[in-house]
Amino acid sequence: MPPVVRFAPSPTGYIHIGNIRTALLNWCVTKRAGGRFILRYDDTDTARSRQEYADAIAVDLAWLGMVPDVQARQSERMALYDAAAARLREAGRLYPCYETEEELERRRTLQKARGLPPVYDRAALRLTAEQKAAMEAEGRRPHWRFLLNHRIVEWQDGVRGPAHVDTASLSDPVLIRADGGYLYTLPSVVDDIDLGVTHIIRGEDHVTNTAVQIEIFEALGGSVPAFAHHNLLTTVSGEGLSKRSGALSIGSLREAGFEPMAVASLAVLTGTAEAVRPIATLQDLAALVDLSRISRAPARFDPAEIETLNAKLLHETAYADVSQRLSALGVGGGEAFWLAVRSNLVRLADAKTWWDVVRGPVAKGEQDREFLHRAASLLPAEPWDENTWGAWTQAVKDATGAKGKALFMPLRQALTGLDHGPELKALLPLIGRERALARLGA
Ligand code: GLU
Repeated sequence: MPPVVRFAPSPTGYIHIGNIRTALLNWCVTKRAGGRFILRYDDTDTARSRQEYADAIAVDLAWLGMVPDVQARQSERMALYDAAAARLREAGRLYPCYETEEELERRRTLQKARGLPPVYDRAALRLTAEQKAAMEAEGRRPHWRFLLNHRIVEWQDGVRGPAHVDTASLSDPVLIRADGGYLYTLPSVVDDIDLGVTHIIRGEDHVTNTAVQIEIFEALGGSVPAFAHHNLLTTVSGEGLSKRSGALSIGSLREAGFEPMAVASLAVLTGTAEAVRPIATLQDLAALVDLSRISRAPARFDPAEIETLNAKLLHETAYADVSQRLSALGVGGGEAFWLAVRSNLVRLADAKTWWDVVRGPVAKGEQDREFLHRAASLLPAEPWDENTWGAWTQAVKDATGAKGKALFMPLRQALTGLDHGPELKALLPLIGRERALARLGA
């Protein structure tokens, strides 16, 4: 059976490279096996969720080549959660609690003082019907906790191998807040069952949730999907990424002019057994993904690596794959120009700088005018090709005795206005004789 996976962001901010790691791992695992990819907006937190963020997530995924097969929004699926909550209540697995946050905090402090783990003591289970009625009469509204089975929940984690959590070490999780709103835990399981999710691939910050959610899957009679928890991306200093800061958001990387596959390669290969290198297509990247070879240590990366990967990727990119974008940038010169400059690019937009150098005007430097005049007089007749530069500079060398840097640098500076850049044997035919003569001051 082909896999069904889901990427389930909360639309409470712009997703960053760490979030996209999760999306990409899901995409790679499902697509190489002919499976489906669901984009599920976990937007039960109505106060913090925004349409603008949801739209941006779809744009970010599409930019990276991920178009979901199915989209779902938790805010539109409340009836399903209500039905599931009713079933859990009937089964005695969902119970009302009336403690305020301050009461709970006080209890936790006491527990800690006694050296006990700050686990909810299930006091609400001992409330009598009269006590509950009295609290309701006071205007208290209950929040609802899931009654854990207090057992060792085990699963075979796709990344971490055999995993287990003793749910006796956990507080019964709150599934429904006092205002009736659902926390993420229950809706996620209900949707995973309803949408036929077979594999849950997510960050390792969800390992504890997994034990709880496996108990909920079982309580609802759903089949438990396979789980895999990948390490989280952090910067070199070990700092985690935050949606709130907006740093390294996919939108900002796109706007900075990075190639989607540079971002995808870094997001997927960091913290795995594979060397971090630019991979040309998602399909090729998918072939490299092996969940069991993702490291358990944090996936540290240096944001500057994106530039390096981006540059390397462009240096290998074929003209056909960028020709439309080059035209949109106002860059001409066809394949010859692309091949001449691609190894000098960090970002695609840099091609425009070199195109401007070809077209001119270029900055004039303090060159030896006599030398340039001699060189100009030796310029061969057109047509020019990649041998022209070699033949010409040989002639200039023979005529003037200049060699090495003294020969090449004044010519480069006069022709391009710069002291560095693409190989002149490729650039010179694009500049052409007329412009070359003018720049040499002839
Ligand atoms: N909305 C959750 C998150 O963004 C989804 C976790 C999951 O994949 O189950 O962390």
